[in-house]
Amino acid sequence: MTIEYDSLFIGGKWQTPSSEDRIRVHSTATEEYIGSVPEGKNEDIDSAVTAARVAFDDPEGWPTWPAERRAETLRRFAGELETRGEEIANRVTAQNGMPVSLSQKWETTNPAQLLRFYADMVCAQEDEVRPGVKGKQVLVTRSPIGVVGAILPWNVPQSITFLKLAPALAAGCTVVLKPSPETVLDAFTVAEAAMAAGLPAGVLNIVPAGGSVSSHLVSHPGVDKISFTGSPEVGRLIGETCGRLLRPVTLELGGKSAAILLDDFDLAGNIDQLYHASMTNNGQVCWLSTRILVPESRYDEMVELITDKVSNLEVGDPFDPATEIGPLVSERHRDRVESLIRQSAEEGARITTGGGRPADQDKGWFLEPTVFADVDRKGTAAQKEFFGPVLSIIKYTDEQDAIDIANDSDFGLAGSVWSADFDRAVGVAKQVETGTIGINGYATDPSAPFGGVKASGLGRELGPEGLSHYQVLKSVYLLQPNA
Ligand code: NAD
Repeated sequence: MTIEYDSLFIGGKWQTPSSEDRIRVHSTATEEYIGSVPEGKNEDIDSAVTAARVAFDDPEGWPTWPAERRAETLRRFAGELETRGEEIANRVTAQNGMPVSLSQKWETTNPAQLLRFYADMVCAQEDEVRPGVKGKQVLVTRSPIGVVGAILPWNVPQSITFLKLAPALAAGCTVVLKPSPETVLDAFTVAEAAMAAGLPAGVLNIVPAGGSVSSHLVSHPGVDKISFTGSPEVGRLIGETCGRLLRPVTLELGGKSAAILLDDFDLAGNIDQLYHASMTNNGQVCWLSTRILVPESRYDEMVELITDKVSNLEVGDPFDPATEIGPLVSERHRDRVESLIRQSAEEGARITTGGGRPADQDKGWFLEPTVFADVDRKGTAAQKEFFGPVLSIIKYTDEQDAIDIANDSDFGLAGSVWSADFDRAVGVAKQVETGTIGINGYATDPSAPFGGVKASGLGRELGPEGLSHYQVLKSVYLLQPNA
């Protein structure tokens, strides 16, 4: 049975789309058709922005509600998502190939957790009175920034949706959500959960569409802020538009992060953690440490351990709970990763495992998990984001050399340092130019700001910083009248 939607979620109800064009989704594993939704056009974005604008400007509307009332609605929204958790996980796995063991962990729990986290945070926020340096007091208030345009990638669609939606809604903003064409079916479950939770009309609107309609949202005069997660190429275009309009923008972009294995590290005992930090979700996560920096003194041994682990990963049906590596998101994306693999091999990087398509998969966009050794630090395998199951092992001489290699990148989103000596690892981590980094693993946390430096983006999500991007600060100088 396929999943079919005929309407778009705009203004709190299902509305007839402006055109008959449809976004059709195929299973990444079987290539079978699995469903379709209306393809949003500029006119649908206009309707959605108008609905969000009306909801935001309503004198008794969502932004004016006491924080506790908004928080109650968000907690109900969290509950409604949880009851649909399995369905959401299955839709994500069918559309983008995320192994179900992961979609059932990440995509069912993160959204509800983020909604509750920001609901609690906004309830605890109060206007602040600061003692002024010049003897008077200052009142600092926060208000919602307005109508938010949120543009999403396909790789972890639910979690990334709520990195934006949870703080934006908690702050009192209204939102037009633009899912990626590859992952539209799970986005409609979000609409169903929002309706069931009683989110007021227009507070959330969902319009799936391609790039050009998405850019209409970015420059729309009714939008006050853009929050984007995706590629650096599109991020730059969005940044240019927002710069011209002086429109606040958050950009979460790509990465090519480094795992620095120090010479005292027990790799054999921790190889699974390295796999999770560098190749999880079929290599389709922005924060993965895909450059593995290995000390010269232990190079052969570590290359062998990594090759052994990667060559033994379970590749196959993403709905099989035992699967570790599923298919890539699309034929086009697999072609791109394969061409980067070819280019790297032509430059002299040595394939120690993988490099082709799995012989036992005659359907789907599968690619063998691949390891390159002897990678030149300036080469394609060291510099380009593949966004697939490909690791690049680079040899370093000493700690400083490792830090220099880690920093020799256009990107700076994440990374990891691995050592038996915690303080030594933290000392190295502090010298890596990046927005986030893990010690002996990598795991983001709602409490801590997440985002990149250099070509990895602008601004931060998560933590109180993530909420502040959806709020406007106002300083009220409390001056006394002359007696
Ligand atoms: P993408 O940039 O191709 O698309 C992202 C979104 O932008 C999609 O919704 C797409 O429809 C839309 N879009 C395309 N052209 C546009 C335009 N001209 N104007 C406005 N919107 C436009 O990225 P993708 O292929 O979906 O995702 C993969 C990329 O995302 C990788 O580079 C990855 O590293 C990055 N990513 C970053 C993070 C992070 O948090 N930093 C998280 C996940 C993915």
